[in-house]
Amino acid sequence: MSRRFNRRRFVGSLTASMASFGAPWPLGYGSESSRQRKTILSFYCDDTSPYVAGAEAFGTFLDFCAEQRIAAESSCILGMDGHSMARNSNEQGQAFLLQVQRAWQCGVGTHLELMTHHGLFDFKANREPEGAVHEGLWLYEPAVTEGEYEHYLRDILAEGERAGIKFTGLTCPGCGCKTCQQRYAALRASGHSTPNLALWQALLSLAKKGKFRSRTVPCFFDSSEKEYGLHRKANDGRWAVFDLMPNAMDHFGIWENNPDRVNADYYITADGKSGVIIRHVEAKSPYCIWYSHWQGLNPAKGVGWRAFTTVVERIRRHLGDRVVWMRPSDITDRYQQSGGWGFLD
Ligand SMILES: [Zn+2]
Ligand SMILES: [Zn+2]
Repeated sequence: MSRRFNRRRFVGSLTASMASFGAPWPLGYGSESSRQRKTILSFYCDDTSPYVAGAEAFGTFLDFCAEQRIAAESSCILGMDGHSMARNSNEQGQAFLLQVQRAWQCGVGTHLELMTHHGLFDFKANREPEGAVHEGLWLYEPAVTEGEYEHYLRDILAEGERAGIKFTGLTCPGCGCKTCQQRYAALRASGHSTPNLALWQALLSLAKKGKFRSRTVPCFFDSSEKEYGLHRKANDGRWAVFDLMPNAMDHFGIWENNPDRVNADYYITADGKSGVIIRHVEAKSPYCIWYSHWQGLNPAKGVGWRAFTTVVERIRRHLGDRVVWMRPSDITDRYQQSGGWGFLD
């Protein structure tokens, strides 16, 4: 599809299973006697769909994650083709959904990036109508109600269930279209530089109804190497919604699949002495989370795949038990459960 992908540039910015609490992706497979606080590693992979590189490529990615015992998140955009992949998909779509179904066991959670990564979807008609407001922008529109958000997100989660997929969180779809950019600017000018607060409440309500895989819902909106954080946006007992900000950027080819935007050394150099991951580990940051895009990361056509596998290999060689890989929803689950980062001690 020739849709334009763009990370947002909007600065200002199973029921909750015991399985998810009791048996998280291995927390610390290094030396248990180490008293040193570990730094969590994870990443978001945006824009994942079968249309970029086919279903098999996603299978290869999952096999790699499982083999290397790494953990992350990769979105699944069910309506990217203009209709729901869960209802009528071609062979590639079906093969892709089979892979997404096994992602969790491979250490990879699945975010909705909403339904189309484009205009709001019409679930009754099973299509994306012409000219609909774009989903990412809609999350910032101050007039939208909690009920409207809950209704729309519930419909996407239901499509996921139809496809055998339990979503773990939400990634805001970026958009560089002129309409969105102009509207974002107008919203900023009128003081609306963050998502509508009703969105967090709607996500919390859905989590409490067991619509997400875990009791906590991680979200990805903005990122910053320095001013990052895990921000609790809505909270009720064991349930919570978080904005879990990446503190490292995409140097695996971005959405353009651009070789000039590939740089393994940005993350960790061959000698293990520098790079953003090393900086966060040395600063004793609770986590180093980066984001990437399936267009650049995928093993079939992605210009960033080799750099990605190199980075994973370097991490294993140089960081060993100083780091622990976790899916974003494991991070927010553990954080909510312990009331902070104490679980890393
Ligand atoms: Zn995206
Ligand atoms: Zn747009």
